[in-house]
Amino acid sequence: MMPRPAEPQVHVIGAGLAGLAAAAALVEAGRRVVVYEAGPAAGGRCRSYFDRGLGCRIDNGNHLLLSGNHAAYAYLDRFGTRRSLGGPGEAVFPFLDRETGERWTLRPSPGRIPWWLLGRRRLVPGTRVRDYLALLRLRRATEEDTVEALLGGGTLYRRLLEPLAIAALNTHPGQASARLLAAVLAETLLRGGAHCIPAYPRLGLSESFVDPAIAWLQARGGRVLYGRRVAGLTVEDGRVTAFGTPDGTVAVAAGEAVVLAVPAWVAADLLPGLTTPDAHEAILNIHFRIGSDPKHAGFIGLIGGTAEWMFIKPEIISVTISAANRLLDEPSPVIAEAVWRDVAAVCDFTVPMPPVRVLKEKRATFAATHAQDRRRPPARTPLANLALAGDWTATGLPATIEGAIRSGETAAATLLAA
Ligand SMILES: Cc1cc2nc3c(=O)[nH]c(=O)nc-3n(C[C@H](O)[C@H](O)[C@H](O)COP(=O)(O)OP(=O)(O)OC[C@H]3O[C@@H](n4cnc5c(N)ncnc54)[C@H](O)[C@@H]3O)c2cc1C
Repeated sequence: MMPRPAEPQVHVIGAGLAGLAAAAALVEAGRRVVVYEAGPAAGGRCRSYFDRGLGCRIDNGNHLLLSGNHAAYAYLDRFGTRRSLGGPGEAVFPFLDRETGERWTLRPSPGRIPWWLLGRRRLVPGTRVRDYLALLRLRRATEEDTVEALLGGGTLYRRLLEPLAIAALNTHPGQASARLLAAVLAETLLRGGAHCIPAYPRLGLSESFVDPAIAWLQARGGRVLYGRRVAGLTVEDGRVTAFGTPDGTVAVAAGEAVVLAVPAWVAADLLPGLTTPDAHEAILNIHFRIGSDPKHAGFIGLIGGTAEWMFIKPEIISVTISAANRLLDEPSPVIAEAVWRDVAAVCDFTVPMPPVRVLKEKRATFAATHAQDRRRPPARTPLANLALAGDWTATGLPATIEGAIRSGETAAATLLAA
């Protein structure tokens, strides 16, 4: 009997969450998949690693998921790792105002009708029920409205809407697209507390989102190759026919396809003429190795501090500062000192600052402005066998885990349909 010709393979370039989601969807549809990753490990902007200075594993940055992030949960379910996420198990968001010292906890009720607004103790201090009607304005956000222009001003804005927008969009609300915020809230807060239960990895990002995906792919014949920075795509007759790697040229045979799941700026280099977002915002993460149990694990939002969100784990306290381009030139020790004052206030610490790592992710996400949103291309390209994936493609969401995973699945579906 003649040997059956091998099933044509799909080449996935980039092993961030978009690439891994695309690879998993393709493998599930019966395709052979090879993933080419430039770095020594997968995960891209959502990964864990061993930090020698701190002597422990840390995440490149705190990542928060909400229960309304359906694609992200479906992704975890595919690999059986939903339970690797922890959190309060209900929609609770504790806050501390650093200027006044007030603490409160936002507790949206589970259903779509916001009964919680009728319970004074559930409201943000200093706000009235009618202030929350401002959220309805998001429904008519135009292509030009910024978050600040639509929602700005007042206590509710300062104590809830502004921190929410900065966390979701990683862009200052004065420039951020109200439409992108509306898209996030429509799937979470505006659907009720059941859709905004916060969760984050108990161990690390890689343990939840990356390592199980790689193991799942490999168990089904998928291959993941590290240290393979792809340079140069060859395009002939309207399709990709080859691409370069440090090991040499990889031919893309007839019937084979490519998912380009690299960051926006790499995609723009590889595909001359492709329009992609070209302005980015940084996120800073400051990890303190406290080496002891701070008693109250969890997370808390800070208003009016240097830190914005604090994640307290048994040995590590990690702090996030979003929309942080303004801090990129600030020396790390200065940032760490300022953030430690916030941490000490939250945890009632009087001890000196412990060992710390300041991570500056310079191009953490594209800037979620209208102008940048308009530069996002769809998954489908004019090339018959090439689809794009990445949080910067036109997902309708800001750059998030949810957006990255959806983009990978859309890219896979595009190729499968073709
Ligand atoms: C600090 C930080 C905090 C964040 N917090 C949150 C959060 O709380 N909630 C949330 O939902 N999202 C958050 N995000 C966003 C989320 O991490 C990203 O949206 C998501 O990880 C993007 O995945 P991606 O696959 O699109 O891109 P990437 O992760 O950038 O993946 C692209 C991959 O391509 C590889 N690559 C690059 N060039 C090449 C090449 N030439 N050849 C081969 N491979 C290449 C890269 O090494 C990388 O592995 C955060 C991001 C950061 C940085």
